[in-house]
Amino acid sequence: MQNEQKRFESLCIHDQNKEYTTLPHQLPIYATSSFEFSSIDEGIDIFSGNKEGHVYSRYGNPTIDTVAAKIASLESFGTDTDSFALLTSSGMSAISTLSIALFEPGDALLTQENLYGGTTELFEKILKRYGVEVYYADLGNKSELESKIKKYKNIKGIYIESPTNPTLACVDLEIIAKIAIENKVHTIIDNTFPTPYLQRPFSFGIDFIIHSTTKYLNGHGNSISGIIIARSSEHKNEIWKAQKLLGTNCNAFDAWLLNNGLKTLQLRMDRHCQNAMALAKFLNAHNKITTVHYLGLQDNPYHELAKRQMSDFGGMLSFEIDGNLEDARNFMNKIKFCTLAPTLGDVDTLVVHPASMSHLNIPKEIRERNGISDTLVRISVGIENINDIIEDITQALR
Ligand SMILES: *Cc1c(COP(=O)(O)O)cnc(C)c1O
Repeated sequence: MQNEQKRFESLCIHDQNKEYTTLPHQLPIYATSSFEFSSIDEGIDIFSGNKEGHVYSRYGNPTIDTVAAKIASLESFGTDTDSFALLTSSGMSAISTLSIALFEPGDALLTQENLYGGTTELFEKILKRYGVEVYYADLGNKSELESKIKKYKNIKGIYIESPTNPTLACVDLEIIAKIAIENKVHTIIDNTFPTPYLQRPFSFGIDFIIHSTTKYLNGHGNSISGIIIARSSEHKNEIWKAQKLLGTNCNAFDAWLLNNGLKTLQLRMDRHCQNAMALAKFLNAHNKITTVHYLGLQDNPYHELAKRQMSDFGGMLSFEIDGNLEDARNFMNKIKFCTLAPTLGDVDTLVVHPASMSHLNIPKEIRERNGISDTLVRISVGIENINDIIEDITQALR
């Protein structure tokens, strides 16, 4: 552009030197809604998919796509899948976008009762309104699973969480995937709790993985985002179309924050696991604690299964205080060093009282059937010095 010939206000608007510089060392944040075409022909080629390129950030954006591809490579690590991924605006939007892409009115979904609360609500209050039936089963019970699939011929997908929130119940992914493949049913797992570092569902034959990347993958609690990862590119067009039309894309800044977090995923997870194991052992020996749910404890009912399908036991645990609701409330109010915050997977230790916080909207009967008593406390064990965490819990229990 010849600057001399342009008027003042035009100079304010048009950027000079669009080629900028050499490659940036770090991923740039592409804060742009659209992308330029050098010619009408290039525009047509990119729009029609004949040429790689970006068009409009709701359809895809270099920052967002780079981070999606990184997480896809983590989930397919060690497998020979041609996976693809889309970052979404939240974990919930990953679940809703994928559900809308895969299911039609008349189809049914088979799932478990102890899902993340928002997921159950999405299925019950939204999906059902659009004619998708939802059935529940103990997915850890092979014969129950098989009989439900036989009974309801319209089941098109099995939706799994393992380990679950907040009692860390696990199901056998290999068995479920095998039954699903035999019956031509999709399998979807929420892999938020273990992350691909500790559990890689594609290696067991699961078809789709979703994450709330808000949690461990970001790890620093400073963005909301989610991801859909498909084992094969077979459904790429349907899922991408659903995201494009629903507008559930992530934004470049949150994707960039997520990318920063991902760089230390392995280091953080190792420390989360190490601290959680130490805290679980401490709690297990404490006289004011009746039950500790941690997969790493030898007597945990899911210990052997977790050992088989996960590479370590994770950073989440929960425990029951010997007492009543009032005692649990007192404990929560005495916490000083750790944080009472309704999220998980951050670098600092987070404490939640599920019965009055995350699971408030779940009927008491269902809550108790899934081990969420009035005195159950959930801890997302952070990566601080373990002694500071234990000291805080000790004084609060006192
Ligand atoms: C937080 C969470 C979600 C929802 O994710 P958002 O990013 O908050 O939308 C879904 N599943 C699990 C297991 C979660 O912890």
